[in-house]
Amino acid sequence: MNHVDTIAAPGSGISTNPPTATPEECAQLAADVEAYCQEIRPLEEIAYLEHEPNPAIAELAKKYNMLGMSMPKKYGGRAVDSLTYARALIRINREGTGVRTFFSGHTSIGQYPILKYGTEEQKDRYLPASCRGECTLAFGLTEPDAGSNPLEGTCTWRREGDKFILNGVKYLISNGSIADAVLVFAFPEGSTGSERRMSAFIVDTAGDTFEAEALHAKPGMYTSDTAMFEMTEHPISGDNMLGEEGNGFRIAMHTLVSGRLSVASGCLGTIEDCLEECLRYAREREQHGKPIGKHQLVQQHIARIEMMRSTADALIERAAIAKDKSDAAPGDKEELARADFAIAEAKYWASNAAWEAVDRAVQIFGGRGWSELYRPFRHLQDVRVCRIYEGTDEIMQLKIASSLLGKEFAAFG
Ligand SMILES: Cc1cc2nc3c(=O)[nH]c(=O)nc-3n(C[C@H](O)[C@H](O)[C@H](O)COP(=O)(O)OP(=O)(O)OC[C@H]3O[C@@H](n4cnc5c(N)ncnc54)[C@H](O)[C@@H]3O)c2cc1C
Repeated sequence: MNHVDTIAAPGSGISTNPPTATPEECAQLAADVEAYCQEIRPLEEIAYLEHEPNPAIAELAKKYNMLGMSMPKKYGGRAVDSLTYARALIRINREGTGVRTFFSGHTSIGQYPILKYGTEEQKDRYLPASCRGECTLAFGLTEPDAGSNPLEGTCTWRREGDKFILNGVKYLISNGSIADAVLVFAFPEGSTGSERRMSAFIVDTAGDTFEAEALHAKPGMYTSDTAMFEMTEHPISGDNMLGEEGNGFRIAMHTLVSGRLSVASGCLGTIEDCLEECLRYAREREQHGKPIGKHQLVQQHIARIEMMRSTADALIERAAIAKDKSDAAPGDKEELARADFAIAEAKYWASNAAWEAVDRAVQIFGGRGWSELYRPFRHLQDVRVCRIYEGTDEIMQLKIASSLLGKEFAAFG
């Protein structure tokens, strides 16, 4: 483990903060995560069954000091390496994909780009407050008409005195209606052609020029926030551009590499929880005079769930190590490409593996499987979105194939 905390020039876009947590501190985080999960389980279950948001997701995260797991200690984080953070998300996601998505939105795609691209002043303003639970973060890239291709976005910015003014709508944003600050990607107002380059901003959400609305028409993840928001002549500080002007697309893509690892990890949590539930149920439930676990076709389902678990686990471990190597080598395009590839494979595989695992778990539970009262069906409702958000199955496959074929085979420009 690296014990050196190096920070490059502020705003250079190449700062890095190697993990500094000791093995004991990593073990303490795992213990805190376990305590969090045990405390949240009954609260989450009630909120889920009532299809209501669960404020305890954030409140207990604050109590257990889990709001900056991978952030450097100097900003109040716990500075764990990517594998330890992934293991935390795996455990958290056993309590529900919605619970884990809160952490992904706040840390993996909220704090991470500020840490990587922020000026020292931006980091000082947002990272300690977000680690203390005083500033919830979100990542706003998607728009109603720009999902897989963010370059088709229409959100705009312009400079006015010492402020930036933002306009436009962001759609399907995790933590979007509870965030105090959102990373927003926008184009210069009135720009065309080569001037039309996306920039990134840290947008404080206070004020009536920023209107957010939680989206409720979703078939799962009831307890966590998915929202849309509209900015109408929304003024933000002139210091709040993140990274260099025109560098927003690169920042967004780099951030999604971090986010996808969190999604892959979450999916493994889903699989682990389904496996544990199925092993218990298959031992207890009797039909035809014996535990259903003695029926070979039920064993086949269990074997497949276990294969989904072990293969996803191996890919996530490889991906987490690749991410740490890339983070430790800022500016090294090859390391970043290796991490991007490994994480795309892990995300694509783990999300599909989880989809297979939840389906088989529901089958093992029979009629009880088709009920929100049991964990497998709740996981089934939640986990489907993991094949869509932070890059769809199709985009992951294009990324994997074109990485192998070479740039000239990229399916889109
Ligand atoms: C619950 C939830 C939470 C989310 N959280 C966030 C968040 O925090 N921040 C954020 O910015 N976004 C978030 N999103 C948005 C998510 O990332 C997008 O939904 C996703 O990227 C897909 O975009 P889209 O929905 O516009 O689909 P589209 O891009 O319209 O895609 C529709 C279909 O076409 C396929 N497709 C598109 N282009 C190609 C291509 N070139 N080749 C092959 N197939 C293609 C897609 O794979 C998909 O199957 C969230 C979404 C959900 C549902």
